[in-house]
Amino acid sequence: MSEIFIKLSIDQKKCISAEGCLTCVKVCPVAIFKPAANKTRIEVNKANEDECTLCNLCLEQCPVQAITLQKLY
Ligand code: SF4
Ligand code: SF4
Repeated sequence: MSEIFIKLSIDQKKCISAEGCLTCVKVCPVAIFKPAANKTRIEVNKANEDECTLCNLCLEQCPVQAITLQKLY
């Protein structure tokens, strides 16, 4: 089992996925973001969270700065 060294979160109050934004889903090279089962919001795919390459693309491209990347080491 791999350890998780980072924690990603989406501020659902800021996120505009309800307006059709899928930017983080598209830019993340390791599929950390995914639409929730009911498609009303974007979720962090916890199973992939430790695959994050720290590329910062999601942070740079989210139009409303809804994503937080916390380093735990
Ligand atoms: S920093 Fe890069 S790899 Fe990590 S969640 Fe954002 S887009 Fe994905
Ligand atoms: S890029 Fe930002 S606003 Fe767009 S779906 Fe992802 S978290 Fe929400």
